[in-house]
Amino acid sequence: MLSPAVIAHNSQLIRLDTNPPAEGSRRLFFGLDAETLSAHLMEAGEPAWRGRQLAEAMYRQRLTSLDAMTTLPKRLREDLAKMDVEVGRPRIVQVFRSVDGTERYLVEGQAADGQTVETVWMPEGDEGEAGDGSEEGAADEAGKSWSRATICVSSQVGCAVNCQFCLTAKLGLQRNLTAGEIAGQVVAVLDRHAVEVGRDRVNLVFMGMGEPFLNYENFMAAVRLLVEEVGLSPQRMTVSTSGIVPGIERFAEEPPEVRPKLAISLNAPNDAVRSEIMPINRKWPIEAVVDAVRQVRLRSRERVTFEYVLLGGVTDRPEHAREVARLVRRAGFPLKVNLIAWNPGPGIAYSMPTGDAVETFKRTLAAEGVPVYLRRPRGRDIYAACGQLKRTVEG
Ligand code: SAH
Ligand code: SF4
Repeated sequence: MLSPAVIAHNSQLIRLDTNPPAEGSRRLFFGLDAETLSAHLMEAGEPAWRGRQLAEAMYRQRLTSLDAMTTLPKRLREDLAKMDVEVGRPRIVQVFRSVDGTERYLVEGQAADGQTVETVWMPEGDEGEAGDGSEEGAADEAGKSWSRATICVSSQVGCAVNCQFCLTAKLGLQRNLTAGEIAGQVVAVLDRHAVEVGRDRVNLVFMGMGEPFLNYENFMAAVRLLVEEVGLSPQRMTVSTSGIVPGIERFAEEPPEVRPKLAISLNAPNDAVRSEIMPINRKWPIEAVVDAVRQVRLRSRERVTFEYVLLGGVTDRPEHAREVARLVRRAGFPLKVNLIAWNPGPGIAYSMPTGDAVETFKRTLAAEGVPVYLRRPRGRDIYAACGQLKRTVEG
């Protein structure tokens, strides 16, 4: 059970987050669900079903201007334009393409401050970590060079959590993203790759910049949009948290129809090491995080993921692997471990694990009976580490 002091402390943490600047007279419609759109349109004297029509146009047809929305009568489009209604979504403003097919984007939100976040497209999935954990690939689609893909989505501009190995941490927290800005990254990337929702296999991982559970309302509103309006399955979505206990407890209350799968950034074998590399562990140590995860009712065959960044000499020793195995057994819920070799970045004084250390760590965990996968580094040549692109491009 959580003490009121902890809850108070956390709500303070959430209050510290800054929201996007006010939008003046512009009315941003992208990010609103069909029901809310209906309410707005009914105020303007339109029938309720126009809301659904507008939602279809923005989220299914992926249209970005009122002019293009020819399912709506011209008169209505003109009225909406006069009311300063904006139906556009966040825009991809820069594209970096890696030799392995990974694309990394800077996406500009709808707010007037011009802030950008990173979004990543990884065709073919990321072996053993496709989001749904399954291995088989779909048949090739005509004209498409990929059979499945994973999109990595950001939840905040920067991050306040301050993990010592992470580049996003260096940016500090600039502001929260709105639900429209979170879902908009996905819709922009789906559109770029002409993804047919319901046919193509696309997984989402909320593992980009920021801590989703410190922007909980907007994050979950984005998930609901992506499920209900865009048509993606929550079982193909994974949210990763550094272990924000009150966030995990709220997440445990979400209905299964809109709940993504859960990943915890464990990253260390014990509290001593974890507190050193993730200061948040002093507030919510491993046991508190594991207790909170126990409250999440898992779907059949669902597993929680423990992510584990291997830092050379710091978290990558065989005795660490054995300690992680004991931790997994104590946790007692179905889980798998995703190993990630640390991606270096400027100004961060850690080292990458050697290939041998990675192999030994993986083998040791497997020998202890822990399901373990190694995440292939993607797009290293285009600065693939979390937060690296924005820092490198924008200085
Ligand atoms: N804030 C959330 C989600 C974004 S970070 C979280 O921390 O879980 C997504 C993952 O990237 C986390 O597991 C984090 O530990 C990992 N990560 C951060 N910086 C990294 C780096 N330089 N190399 C490899 N993994 C990194
Ligand atoms: Fe934030 Fe996650 Fe980076 Fe930690 S690892 S600083 S929680 S983005």
